[in-house]
Amino acid sequence: MNLIDHWIGGKEYGSRPDRVGDVYDPATGRIAAHVAFASPDVVDEAVSAARRAFESWKNVSLTKRAAVMFRFQEILHKNIDRLTEVVSSEHGKVLSDARGEVTRGFEVVEFVCGIPHLLKGEFSENVSSRVDSFSMRQPVGVVGGITPFNFPVMVPMWMYPVAIACGNAFILKPSEKDPSAANLMAELLAEAGLPDGVFNVVHGDKVAVDRLLEHPGVDAISSVGSTPVARYIYETAARYGKRVQALGGAKNHMVVVPDADMELAADSLVSATYGSTGQRCMAVSAVVAIGDAGDALMEMIKKRVASLKVGPGTDLAAEMGPLVTGQHRDKVLSYVEAGVREGAELAIDGRDVKVEGHEDGFFLGPCLFDRVEPNMSIYKDEIFGPVGVVLRADDLASAIDIVNDNEYGNGTAIFTNDGGVARKFTHEIQVGMVGVNVPIPVPMAFYSFGGWKGSLFGDTHIHGPEGIRFYTRGKVVTSRWPDPEHRGVELGFPNKR
Ligand code: NAD
Repeated sequence: MNLIDHWIGGKEYGSRPDRVGDVYDPATGRIAAHVAFASPDVVDEAVSAARRAFESWKNVSLTKRAAVMFRFQEILHKNIDRLTEVVSSEHGKVLSDARGEVTRGFEVVEFVCGIPHLLKGEFSENVSSRVDSFSMRQPVGVVGGITPFNFPVMVPMWMYPVAIACGNAFILKPSEKDPSAANLMAELLAEAGLPDGVFNVVHGDKVAVDRLLEHPGVDAISSVGSTPVARYIYETAARYGKRVQALGGAKNHMVVVPDADMELAADSLVSATYGSTGQRCMAVSAVVAIGDAGDALMEMIKKRVASLKVGPGTDLAAEMGPLVTGQHRDKVLSYVEAGVREGAELAIDGRDVKVEGHEDGFFLGPCLFDRVEPNMSIYKDEIFGPVGVVLRADDLASAIDIVNDNEYGNGTAIFTNDGGVARKFTHEIQVGMVGVNVPIPVPMAFYSFGGWKGSLFGDTHIHGPEGIRFYTRGKVVTSRWPDPEHRGVELGFPNKR
């Protein structure tokens, strides 16, 4: 069976690993490949390769680094179908969705093609008499990136193009559930002329992650995953003195006001709840319907969901693919059972979905609970599957309270035609990314992506200007050049402005 191997120092590692993981085809339920699990020694080799590469890469001129990114962008576009197919085959998402993910990743590469401009410092002449100051940003060194299964191309691209363009070397530890995209990106970076060792991939599980977190040769960690893992990575990496940003899980609320365009709200809700089979960190996973909006919305959603086509990612007519693994499908299913037990109304039941010819695939149809209460597990926990929950609120103030009381603060959206209501909501809501009549408000690459509360551990969001700051350290130089009026020794603190 095919072994997906690490990529270290510009080539496939050629391991004979003690431990491997199974990689499934989620549409058939069959094991499609094995992935090597890195031991601490393998991680150490990747760190050594990255450290060596960093020493020269950090001195490569900005225009040459930008030129690599321009070539990479061109190569990515030529390989868009390969990347899309790799994502769909291991993740299970339908091809159109996989292509959307890949395209959003490319936008970050496009952003960092402007790295000479993005790394400009500041200069002040005469901060004191004949003294000038300037600031610059320098790379932090070797960066480890730990990424989740749900966006095997886009989430790594939130990190490594920015880190590399800033002059760092990078070690990616992708999800063990869909690891192949990482190797394909490594190949394409090499084709773009990136020097060996600047980008490396180590596959594996907690063993590999822990070695990256504690290794003295790793300077910074970017990670994206579930909240318990994000908290663990943040605390551990910080204890080892590393700079760290760890993005966590989510429960994203869509608030619907009775004056909203209900057709738009219902279309947006169904797309954002069931797209990618609910396995998006920005999926709408809770709806808060204000007043009469609830009944109208429920009718419209039921009609739309009834015509959704569930099928394998490769079926061009399919709109919703399988879940990533059988274990994850069973976990999502257990939440549906819990919701029924807890007394929520299961208005749409997708438990019996059958996909002909794919009886062993990890499928689950769309499910929707109505009249959900905030104390129920289907509301409190991140389910990360095609299960929506609808809560009812009397007015805008109580809807805002519901969102703000939630543990997570990744994304949220309000649907309304009243600008004053939208403004109040965007001002008061304690969430990092907010949409107004936009259900999945993922910022473009030139803004930064990230949540608040339990959705982010660390100070900086990812990509955009905050990404540039995270992957660089600031330095300020204060300089005075000898001048003919120099007056000799002066012991006092300089105070002559
Ligand atoms: P996960 O937390 O299980 O895994 C994420 C990464 O951490 C993987 O590389 C995994 O190998 C590693 N990992 C898992 N357990 C670990 C442990 N105990 N110690 C050290 N490392 C460990 O997440 P997942 O299931 O792959 O992805 C889905 C989760 O990611 C969801 O919670 C989703 O909301 C979140 N996510 C968040 C964002 C965001 O931007 N906030 C984006 C995408 C996904």
